[in-house]
Amino acid sequence: MRVLIVEDERRLSNIIKKGFIEDGFAVDQAFDGEEGQYLAESEQYDLIVLDIMLPKLDGLQVCKELRKKSIKTPVLMLTAKSTTEDKVAGLDSGADDYITKPFSFIEFRSRIHALIRRSHQETSPVLLIDGLELDPLKHTVSRDTKALTLTPKEFAVLELMMRHKGEVVSRTMIIEHVWDYNFDGMSNVVDVFVGTLRKKIDLHAKKKLIQTVHGVGYKIG
Ligand code: CA
Repeated sequence: MRVLIVEDERRLSNIIKKGFIEDGFAVDQAFDGEEGQYLAESEQYDLIVLDIMLPKLDGLQVCKELRKKSIKTPVLMLTAKSTTEDKVAGLDSGADDYITKPFSFIEFRSRIHALIRRSHQETSPVLLIDGLELDPLKHTVSRDTKALTLTPKEFAVLELMMRHKGEVVSRTMIIEHVWDYNFDGMSNVVDVFVGTLRKKIDLHAKKKLIQTVHGVGYKIG
């Protein structure tokens, strides 16, 4: 999963970023509304955390612009005030949810995961394919009830593939959703990650779940 944080308070932005990275997300930051809008339009995000009070362009305007351009990335709005008007304005601008500052990271995290679930039309918090189980909130993976240890990036690659069960996930798509803006590696990095994932997931299992679609990418399930 890849997220964009649009927040001019650097300290708060960095705290949120740290939490996301610990969860295996790729994170980009923007510190004003214009930069946020530019990144949201040019990159592929799974979620945008958008503050309302921002220099250059406020969060409500950014959100309205994105929706006008049919960019449907889920938006969690950060509001400083908990007035009803603020909340209504946020939701009216096209945001999917809002959270009032100051907030606890625990609440923030559960809101984030709920939004991502909703955007993928998932009802269960746990992803399950043929005995392979991934829990994004608990950050656990198991195959046939045996717990597996994955690195944050391996976890992110697997989560992306499982959310697109039965579909081909291209190398480009994996890079766009798992690595951040500063990534300048080659796409064979993806093959290395999928290679180690395969060893961990499929090596001792009867049914091999990760399939290679030659020239395109990978498929699971
Ligand atoms: Ca602000």
